Amino acid sequence: MKKLVILGAGTAGTMMLNKLSNILDKDEWHITIVDQHEKHYYQPGFLFIPFNIYNCKDVIKPKRDFFPPGTDVIMSGIKKIEPKKNRVLLDNRKVLPYDYLIIATGAKIKPDETEGLKDKLWHKNVFDFYTIEGACALRDFFKHWKGGKLVLNITEMPIKCPVAPLEFVFLADSYFTEIGIRDKIDIHFVTPLPGAFTKPKASAILGDFLDKKNIKLTTEFNIARVDNDEKKIVSWDEEEIPFDVLVTIPTNMGDEVIERSDMGDELNFVPTDKHTLRSKDYENIFVIGDATDLPSSKAGSVAHFQADVLFENFLSAIENREMQEKFDGHANCFIESGFGKGILIDFNYDTEPLPGKFPLPGVGPFSLLEETKTNHYGKVMFRWVYWNLLLKGLEMPIEHQMTMAGKRAS
Ligand SMILES: Cc1cc2nc3c(=O)[nH]c(=O)nc-3n(C[C@H](O)[C@H](O)[C@H](O)COP(=O)(O)OP(=O)(O)OC[C@H]3O[C@@H](n4cnc5c(N)ncnc54)[C@H](O)[C@@H]3O)c2cc1C
Repeated sequence: MKKLVILGAGTAGTMMLNKLSNILDKDEWHITIVDQHEKHYYQPGFLFIPFNIYNCKDVIKPKRDFFPPGTDVIMSGIKKIEPKKNRVLLDNRKVLPYDYLIIATGAKIKPDETEGLKDKLWHKNVFDFYTIEGACALRDFFKHWKGGKLVLNITEMPIKCPVAPLEFVFLADSYFTEIGIRDKIDIHFVTPLPGAFTKPKASAILGDFLDKKNIKLTTEFNIARVDNDEKKIVSWDEEEIPFDVLVTIPTNMGDEVIERSDMGDELNFVPTDKHTLRSKDYENIFVIGDATDLPSSKAGSVAHFQADVLFENFLSAIENREMQEKFDGHANCFIESGFGKGILIDFNYDTEPLPGKFPLPGVGPFSLLEETKTNHYGKVMFRWVYWNLLLKGLEMPIEHQMTMAGKRAS
């Protein structure tokens, strides 16, 4: 019996489990999936909680609802991977030998990496919305807030869903307008990047949106510390920005198990071949989702495109066929822009977001780099797609490789 072990039952691990257990012969393969938590969080939904659009419970389902029957499920922390011995050590003292390993342990925020961030103002005036606890605490804060300086700060890149911070300030503009206190709030978007986003053309367009919505933009701000007494963030070159409420995107890192296993870079991301998704160091290990060190966006949509490629490559690897270098960094992200509208971007390693129509050239119904109501409905629909199609590893009508059809290369 051959052994496949999948580490992490979040978006990517669950998709791979569903895809592979459909095809691998049950008499020949034993598949085990390991995770530390019973609950699956729909992380894109965290964005909506502070603005009371979703309840905290709207984004949670039991992980086990998405595992196919017959899967060996182990709920335990993962202590260490020993790649030279082809085995994994778990917190519950179990030792899992494997023939093939898929690492899907994701990324998480590490507020303790920045001086003063997780200090006495944490979840009082300083919030994250990248965890359920942070998003729900911020919703409670906003319920009673009467106004002041709202600063959103990205600590450093890379982060999960790099558009989420922009969506947050767009939604804040919309939410405070609707409850009638927008004129009492200064919204300030503070980023270490040279513009509003990672890609130059989209960055200029999204920067214009910030401007139109009267949201101040400060670029190239590299935070050194949070001054909890004076309520200000301070950069390494001593620039200071005061806040009444700070919404932070802390440093994002891979899980500590990667560090304990001596398998990661300085942010605990696993060196991964950018086109095949095989580990750069071990032939029988594959890596998918936020756990990789790839320059693609850390997003569920990206994990979905990767899953299609990894599925094919895994089958090639076990049948001793050559793997295809097919992952092109494709990302497809809806950006909620407030007032019931949204923007869509579609890009890959080589092509930055361009205007046009998606997925049908000239027809859409979605518009690239434009703010429309249909794009907003796409974002809203994504939650249904996530629970009902994506996690189950079902076919979706979007190619895993980016296409130029429908795009205007200007
Ligand atoms: C606020 C926010 C908004 C987002 N919006 C979008 C969006 O609009 N569109 C989009 O496509 N993506 C979005 N994302 C990103 C998306 O949610 C992630 O990219 C995606 O979930 C990554 O999947 P993953 O499987 O790599 O990691 P995860 O889904 O995080 O899963 C990792 C799993 O590994 C487990 N694990 C890790 N370490 C251990 C250990 N030592 N022992 C046991 N188990 C372990 C964890 O418990 C977890 O279940 C958003 C993310 C956030 C935070």
